[in-house]
Amino acid sequence: MTLARSRWIAKKVSRAALVAATKHLPRSRAVARVLTYHRFGRITRDPFCVTAEDFEAHVALLAREGRAVSLEDVHAFAKGQRHLPADACLVTMDDGYLSMLEVALPILARHRVPSVAFVTASFVDAARIEGQPEPFLTKAQLRAMHEGGMTIGAHAFTHRSLGRLSMDETVDEVTRAKKTLEDAIGAPVTSFAYPFGTHGDFSDATDRALEDAGYDIAFHSQHGPVVPGMITRGATLRSLPRIKIESGEPLAQLDAISRGAMDAWSVVDRNLWRLQRVRQDVVPSAT
Ligand SMILES: [Zn+2]
Repeated sequence: MTLARSRWIAKKVSRAALVAATKHLPRSRAVARVLTYHRFGRITRDPFCVTAEDFEAHVALLAREGRAVSLEDVHAFAKGQRHLPADACLVTMDDGYLSMLEVALPILARHRVPSVAFVTASFVDAARIEGQPEPFLTKAQLRAMHEGGMTIGAHAFTHRSLGRLSMDETVDEVTRAKKTLEDAIGAPVTSFAYPFGTHGDFSDATDRALEDAGYDIAFHSQHGPVVPGMITRGATLRSLPRIKIESGEPLAQLDAISRGAMDAWSVVDRNLWRLQRVRQDVVPSAT
């Protein structure tokens, strides 16, 4: 999804301004942030395609500072059962594009940084889908990622908004995704990331469908940190927030975001979701 030059500049300026305005505000460092990436490579003005150089710089920084944690760590942390380093981060990536394997995996392995790949099951073995910027993973490649140390999670079966489906369709989406991915990697798949993940793409009903299907933990895309013990205070392990990482931003800004400089964005996600919905309708395959 390449943006027009004027829109790209406006977006980058507004994100940089928000980070600059808020990065010195006091905030708790005893939280974990789940970072969302999508694709890796060089596509100009595509916010979801991060260069290998930028990704490696960020991963190396997390590793060097001892802030990289695993899905299991975040799971235990959210339940209030484990302490994590200040400003801990879990690297996740959505959709199931080939660059997860070809670009991201070697970098993550080199720095021994844990990660989760949330894969849309019907895209596996679909090769190149018209309108998509790069091919999707094959079953063999997905298995290679699993064997290379990535945790494989589900990103639904067809990448539709579960919030817009009937309950029968939702159950079908989450159970078929789980079975397809488990068959591909020969191991349990117990984590999930909602397609789109904005307001209206998940609900208490989808939470129950995920629980019934056997998912232990799930993430939407609304902005925010995972707070220790939040599960004991009414949230569920199947509605955890994440932090979207975009391309074209300097390491200092990525670092500030991973430490909470854009946590204020959660106000936008909670209150301006109608604008996000319009965008999602226009670009159905994005995020
Ligand atoms: Zn997605």
